[in-house]
Amino acid sequence: MHTIDAQLAPLLDQELDRQRRVLAMIPSENYVSPAVLAATGSVCTNKYSEGYPGKRYYSGNEIIDAIEELARSRARELFHVSHVNVQPYSGSPANLAVCLALLHPGDTIMGLDLRYGGHLTHGWKVSATGIYYRSVPYITNAEGWLDYDAIATQARTERPKLIFCGATAYPRIIDFAKLASIAREVDAFLVADISHIAGLVAGDAHPSPVGHADVVTTTTHKTLRGPRGAMILCNGLPSDPLKAPPERTRDHLPSLIDRAVFPGLQGGPHDHQTAAIAAALHEAAQPEFRTYAQRIIENARALAETLAAAGGRLITGGTDNHLLLMDVTPFGTTGRIAAEALYRIGISVNFNAIPNDPRKPFDPSGIRLGTPALTTRGYTPEDMRTIGQCIAEVLRSPDDALLLHRTQATIRAIADAYPLYPTLSSVAA
Ligand SMILES: *Cc1c(COP(=O)(O)O)cnc(C)c1O
Repeated sequence: MHTIDAQLAPLLDQELDRQRRVLAMIPSENYVSPAVLAATGSVCTNKYSEGYPGKRYYSGNEIIDAIEELARSRARELFHVSHVNVQPYSGSPANLAVCLALLHPGDTIMGLDLRYGGHLTHGWKVSATGIYYRSVPYITNAEGWLDYDAIATQARTERPKLIFCGATAYPRIIDFAKLASIAREVDAFLVADISHIAGLVAGDAHPSPVGHADVVTTTTHKTLRGPRGAMILCNGLPSDPLKAPPERTRDHLPSLIDRAVFPGLQGGPHDHQTAAIAAALHEAAQPEFRTYAQRIIENARALAETLAAAGGRLITGGTDNHLLLMDVTPFGTTGRIAAEALYRIGISVNFNAIPNDPRKPFDPSGIRLGTPALTTRGYTPEDMRTIGQCIAEVLRSPDDALLLHRTQATIRAIADAYPLYPTLSSVAA
């Protein structure tokens, strides 16, 4: 009962060790606090709670109600909205729930094309959002910038019912006000998916979509630094989730969203996840969180400057947020080879398509790098310059065994200098 089995225990320990050794530069990853980790591993995982606080289909939820209400009120305060649903299992079901809430099957949606930095669930053809709705993606310009005039023209032609904004690989600030005026003009709902930048928004390091977008979705596990999970934020009349779906109007967004999440798409909420979201939101409301959000951007800028000076072609020429998208072909390599060579020296990144990528998705021209996890771990702009130089050297000579060996030692020393979970001796204990 108190120990994890002999096969699984060493694997969990190995994963802890791997996370300590490897610099996580995948921009969607982060390291949660011990408090978030503890809530995620709490006994709330044992409970069934279908429904919402005060309106459950199971008994024994008086404490779960308090936990979910705590998470909701903290999210309302942090993001300045009147209603929050904290039950989506993750970001993808949150987006599908919003479609379910606001659309009829076959309605038209517009989201940023996956190949230009958008998310699968914004209407990509193999996603449920691209199968059950008529999806007409928009793209960036050749330099990688959102082209608001082109989006407006396309919206006037296609008349979407819903426009998604937000991205997984967009290094610049998103102008939510402009997108809202486009959506208003064609009478579409604007949904801002801030999964990647929620921590920056909470820390006042990126403008908030609240007040512009009708609905905001976000994962909780990226820059926001909570457990895996998601939230849907909106304003409107108080939710009455047990009543038949009201009109699909803006006033009724809270009820529409709640009914779409449960019973529309999901069953029982993951109460341990809700508890951990509450823990993360408490941390995000502290002054230190603003420092962290600013530091993420300073680190990304330092990394961008180093890589650009070393000959990397940064999409849009730089970054305003936590990530960079870099064309690595000027170094004479490809995205896949680059990602593999970097992992060999102890840096995890992911290969990524660049705008108008001439290469195939499984070996595209670019890599995507981010600074949230390293910032959480304590790294500074100076460290980012050292790391950036190692990255550039590896990209120039990904097959040079001697060079890989030398840079691996440098990265190992940098990893050891910033201990991760120093008091956690074993996750399997
Ligand atoms: C990560 C992400 C999601 C999906 O989140 P999952 O939790 O992986 O399902 C959705 N939208 C955007 C923009 C994301 O970055």
